[in-house]
Amino acid sequence: MITLSQHKNLKRLAAALIKDAGVILTEDELARMDTADFGLGAPEVEGAQIASLIDTEKIAMRVIALLPGQTEPEHRHAGAGDCAGKEETIRVLAGMFYLCVEGDDNLRFARVPPGKDQFYTARREYAMQPGDCLTIPPGVRHWFQAGGGGAVVYSVSTTATDAKDLFTDPAVRRVTEIRE
Ligand code: ZN
Repeated sequence: MITLSQHKNLKRLAAALIKDAGVILTEDELARMDTADFGLGAPEVEGAQIASLIDTEKIAMRVIALLPGQTEPEHRHAGAGDCAGKEETIRVLAGMFYLCVEGDDNLRFARVPPGKDQFYTARREYAMQPGDCLTIPPGVRHWFQAGGGGAVVYSVSTTATDAKDLFTDPAVRRVTEIRE
Protein backbone atom coordinates (compact mmCIF):
# COMPACT_ATOMS: atom_id res chain seq x y z
CA MET A 1 0.00 0.00 0.00
CA ILE A 2 1.17 3.52 -0.78
CA THR A 3 -0.41 6.85 -0.02
CA LEU A 4 -1.79 9.21 -2.64
CA SER A 5 1.01 11.67 -1.92
CA GLN A 6 3.65 8.92 -2.36
CA HIS A 7 1.96 7.97 -5.65
CA LYS A 8 2.05 11.57 -6.88
CA ASN A 9 5.66 12.03 -5.83
CA LEU A 10 6.83 8.78 -7.48
CA LYS A 11 4.98 9.72 -10.64
CA ARG A 12 6.52 13.19 -10.70
CA LEU A 13 10.07 11.81 -10.28
CA ALA A 14 9.49 9.12 -12.92
CA ALA A 15 7.99 11.60 -15.38
CA ALA A 16 11.10 13.77 -15.06
CA LEU A 17 13.41 10.80 -15.73
CA ILE A 18 11.31 9.80 -18.75
CA LYS A 19 11.29 13.33 -20.13
CA ASP A 20 15.07 13.61 -19.68
CA ALA A 21 15.41 10.33 -21.59
CA GLY A 22 13.67 12.01 -24.53
CA VAL A 23 10.55 9.86 -24.44
CA ILE A 24 7.22 11.53 -25.11
CA LEU A 25 4.26 10.25 -23.12
CA THR A 26 0.71 11.44 -23.64
CA GLU A 27 -1.28 12.97 -20.77
CA ASP A 28 -3.34 9.79 -20.68
CA GLU A 29 -0.27 7.53 -20.48
CA LEU A 30 1.09 9.67 -17.66
CA ALA A 31 -2.24 9.63 -15.85
CA ARG A 32 -2.38 5.83 -16.04
CA MET A 33 1.23 5.28 -14.95
CA ASP A 34 1.54 2.54 -12.35
CA THR A 35 3.65 3.43 -9.30
CA ALA A 36 4.13 -0.15 -8.16
CA ASP A 37 5.28 -0.87 -4.61
CA PHE A 38 4.53 -4.58 -5.14
CA GLY A 39 2.55 -4.49 -1.91
CA LEU A 40 5.78 -4.17 0.09
CA GLY A 41 5.27 -0.57 1.23
CA ALA A 42 8.81 0.70 0.50
CA PRO A 43 8.57 1.83 -3.12
CA GLU A 44 11.92 3.69 -3.16
CA VAL A 45 13.62 0.36 -2.36
CA GLU A 46 11.42 -2.18 -4.16
CA GLY A 47 9.21 -0.54 -6.74
CA ALA A 48 8.89 0.59 -10.36
CA GLN A 49 7.05 3.25 -12.30
CA ILE A 50 5.50 1.66 -15.36
CA ALA A 51 3.71 3.37 -18.25
CA SER A 52 1.82 1.08 -20.62
CA LEU A 53 2.07 2.30 -24.21
CA ILE A 54 0.79 -0.66 -26.21
CA ASP A 55 -1.33 -3.66 -25.23
CA THR A 56 -2.69 -5.83 -28.03
CA GLU A 57 -3.54 -9.53 -28.12
CA LYS A 58 0.00 -10.23 -29.32
CA ILE A 59 2.39 -7.58 -28.02
CA ALA A 60 2.93 -5.12 -25.22
CA MET A 61 5.20 -2.13 -24.80
CA ARG A 62 6.05 -0.39 -21.54
CA VAL A 63 8.30 2.41 -20.41
CA ILE A 64 9.76 1.57 -17.02
CA ALA A 65 11.41 4.32 -14.98
CA LEU A 66 13.42 3.37 -11.90
CA LEU A 67 14.58 5.86 -9.31
CA PRO A 68 18.24 5.72 -8.19
CA GLY A 69 18.90 2.24 -6.77
CA GLN A 70 15.24 1.24 -7.04
CA THR A 71 14.64 -2.48 -7.61
CA GLU A 72 11.87 -4.39 -9.37
CA PRO A 73 11.53 -7.63 -7.40
CA GLU A 74 12.41 -11.00 -8.90
CA HIS A 75 9.68 -12.62 -10.95
CA ARG A 76 8.99 -14.76 -13.98
CA HIS A 77 6.26 -14.65 -16.56
CA ALA A 78 3.80 -17.47 -16.28
CA GLY A 79 2.31 -19.29 -19.24
CA ALA A 80 -1.39 -20.02 -19.55
CA GLY A 81 -3.04 -22.71 -21.65
CA ASP A 82 -1.32 -22.96 -25.05
CA CYS A 83 0.53 -19.75 -24.40
CA ALA A 84 4.13 -19.83 -23.16
CA GLY A 85 4.93 -17.06 -20.71
CA LYS A 86 5.74 -13.59 -21.92
CA GLU A 87 9.03 -13.10 -23.76
CA GLU A 88 10.39 -9.72 -22.68
CA THR A 89 13.06 -7.56 -24.30
CA ILE A 90 14.58 -4.70 -22.37
CA ARG A 91 16.18 -1.79 -24.18
CA VAL A 92 17.90 0.80 -22.04
CA LEU A 93 17.16 4.45 -22.86
CA ALA A 94 18.91 6.26 -20.01
CA GLY A 95 21.02 5.46 -16.98
CA MET A 96 22.78 2.33 -15.82
CA PHE A 97 20.48 -0.67 -15.54
CA TYR A 98 21.41 -3.94 -13.86
CA LEU A 99 19.41 -6.88 -15.13
CA CYS A 100 19.83 -10.16 -13.27
CA VAL A 101 18.63 -13.47 -14.68
CA GLU A 102 19.03 -17.13 -13.73
CA GLY A 103 22.57 -18.38 -14.39
CA ASP A 104 26.11 -18.35 -13.04
CA ASP A 105 26.51 -15.85 -10.21
CA ASN A 106 28.53 -12.84 -11.36
CA LEU A 107 26.68 -10.24 -9.30
CA ARG A 108 28.84 -7.15 -9.07
CA PHE A 109 26.95 -3.86 -9.18
CA ALA A 110 23.36 -4.63 -8.23
CA ARG A 111 22.60 -4.84 -4.51
CA VAL A 112 20.00 -7.27 -3.20
CA PRO A 113 17.64 -5.27 -0.95
CA PRO A 114 18.59 -5.78 2.72
CA GLY A 115 17.22 -8.98 4.25
CA LYS A 116 15.80 -10.18 0.92
CA ASP A 117 18.52 -12.64 -0.19
CA GLN A 118 16.18 -15.59 -0.43
CA PHE A 119 13.85 -13.72 -2.79
CA TYR A 120 16.61 -12.70 -5.22
CA THR A 121 17.94 -16.01 -6.53
CA ALA A 122 18.81 -14.91 -10.10
CA ARG A 123 22.42 -13.74 -9.87
CA ARG A 124 23.65 -13.57 -13.45
CA GLU A 125 24.05 -9.83 -13.87
CA TYR A 126 24.09 -7.81 -17.07
CA ALA A 127 25.28 -4.24 -16.50
CA MET A 128 23.45 -2.39 -19.26
CA GLN A 129 23.76 1.14 -20.56
CA PRO A 130 21.72 3.19 -23.04
CA GLY A 131 21.32 1.32 -26.33
CA ASP A 132 21.83 -2.12 -24.79
CA CYS A 133 19.16 -4.75 -25.39
CA LEU A 134 18.53 -8.09 -23.75
CA THR A 135 15.77 -10.64 -24.22
CA ILE A 136 14.46 -12.63 -21.27
CA PRO A 137 13.00 -15.97 -22.40
CA PRO A 138 9.60 -17.06 -21.04
CA GLY A 139 9.69 -18.59 -17.57
CA VAL A 140 13.17 -17.34 -16.62
CA ARG A 141 13.43 -15.59 -13.26
CA HIS A 142 14.71 -12.02 -13.41
CA TRP A 143 14.91 -8.79 -11.44
CA PHE A 144 16.43 -5.42 -12.13
CA GLN A 145 17.80 -2.33 -10.48
CA ALA A 146 18.77 1.19 -11.55
CA GLY A 147 22.21 2.66 -10.99
CA GLY A 148 22.77 5.81 -8.95
CA GLY A 149 21.19 8.17 -11.48
CA GLY A 150 17.99 6.20 -12.03
CA ALA A 151 17.18 4.49 -15.32
CA VAL A 152 14.58 4.44 -18.07
CA VAL A 153 13.98 1.42 -20.31
CA TYR A 154 11.55 0.10 -22.86
CA SER A 155 10.08 -3.30 -22.14
CA VAL A 156 8.82 -4.82 -25.38
CA SER A 157 7.14 -8.17 -25.07
CA THR A 158 4.63 -10.70 -26.21
CA THR A 159 1.19 -10.33 -24.60
CA ALA A 160 1.49 -9.03 -21.08
CA THR A 161 -0.58 -10.38 -18.21
CA ASP A 162 1.19 -8.38 -15.51
CA ALA A 163 -1.23 -9.38 -12.78
CA LYS A 164 -0.24 -13.05 -13.31
CA ASP A 165 3.51 -12.57 -12.99
CA LEU A 166 5.00 -14.98 -10.47
CA PHE A 167 7.14 -13.25 -7.84
CA THR A 168 9.70 -15.14 -5.74
CA ASP A 169 8.75 -13.16 -2.61
CA PRO A 170 5.35 -14.46 -1.49
CA ALA A 171 4.60 -11.10 0.15
CA VAL A 172 4.42 -9.37 -3.25
CA ARG A 173 1.03 -8.09 -4.37
CA ARG A 174 1.22 -6.99 -7.99
CA VAL A 175 -1.82 -4.73 -8.05
CA THR A 176 -0.90 -1.35 -6.58
CA GLU A 177 -3.13 -0.18 -3.76
CA ILE A 178 -3.28 3.58 -3.19
CA ARG A 179 -4.88 5.10 -0.07
CA GLU A 180 -5.75 8.72 0.65
ZN1 ZN B 1 9.57 -9.27 -16.28
